[in-house]
Amino acid sequence: MANSSNSQRLQNQIALVTGGSSGIGAGVAKAMAAEGATVIVNYAHSAEEAAAVVADIKKAGGRAVAIQADVSKEDEVLHMFDQIREQFQTLHILVNNSGIQQDSPFLEMSLEKWQKVIDVNLTGQFLCAREAAREFVRRGPQPEVSKATGKIICMSSVHEVIPWAGHVNYATSKGGIMQLMKSMAQELAPQRIRVNSIGPGAIATPINLSARDTPEEERNLLTLIPYGRIGDPADIGMVAVWLASDEADYVTGTTIFADGGMTLYPGFADNG
Ligand code: NAD
Repeated sequence: MANSSNSQRLQNQIALVTGGSSGIGAGVAKAMAAEGATVIVNYAHSAEEAAAVVADIKKAGGRAVAIQADVSKEDEVLHMFDQIREQFQTLHILVNNSGIQQDSPFLEMSLEKWQKVIDVNLTGQFLCAREAAREFVRRGPQPEVSKATGKIICMSSVHEVIPWAGHVNYATSKGGIMQLMKSMAQELAPQRIRVNSIGPGAIATPINLSARDTPEEERNLLTLIPYGRIGDPADIGMVAVWLASDEADYVTGTTIFADGGMTLYPGFADNG
């Protein structure tokens, strides 16, 4: 819960969470607000959903506003950052969370489906990270606020390492995010900008509803999760808070998998 205690780890920081209006993004937005950050809840289409997340944060005593922008469109991203500077002067944390799935067997995958997923999941992360990094460098260090000059957290997936038939556009976007994150981390470390990823496993959100439609589908999904439960947006929110906080000041260029062991090749647990 948000409170005014001095132990809040993101106090006096401005955080942008793209796609913060639902699922994991909403969980991250609420967790960061509870740690004292002022959160910008970005949304693409649903102003109502974004307003509901903002209202929840305010009800808990936190600070938040909603800003609309399609992260795959450069002019909209630039306009969002102008609005952030106008309203809050600067930014300290970017959570690059927006992402979509548009599945198709490989032989039937249209260029449109391929391009749409790459545009939102990969180009969207590039555009927002570039604008955030430009703002961090423009503003310079604020050691009284945070040891790092800026923090970027990319929402990746277990599919940055696990291939995924029927989802080549999505898996490719997440593999791309891994190299985007690492290359940015290498390039921006001298400016004291930390860049990391979170690789969620199966988290109960709208994006994967179809994989949990029936009890049988849910049972099948659980066979891939050694820890025996589907994750919750709050599981990811807590990791994001830690990565953004000074507790993680020596952590850059890495992916933290929060997946109940999905990346442990559970098929080999029983002698393979
Ligand atoms: P979700 O569908 O609830 O959230 C996706 C968010 O992205 C929504 O808020 C949506 O409005 C936003 N978005 C979509 N297109 C956008 C655009 N063009 N511009 C701005 N925002 C846009 O699903 P989620 O599960 O919360 O997904 C969040 C992130 O987590 C995604 O990057 C997804 O790939 C990743 N992820 C999810 C899971 C999971 O199991 N749920 C697992 C691994 C990774």
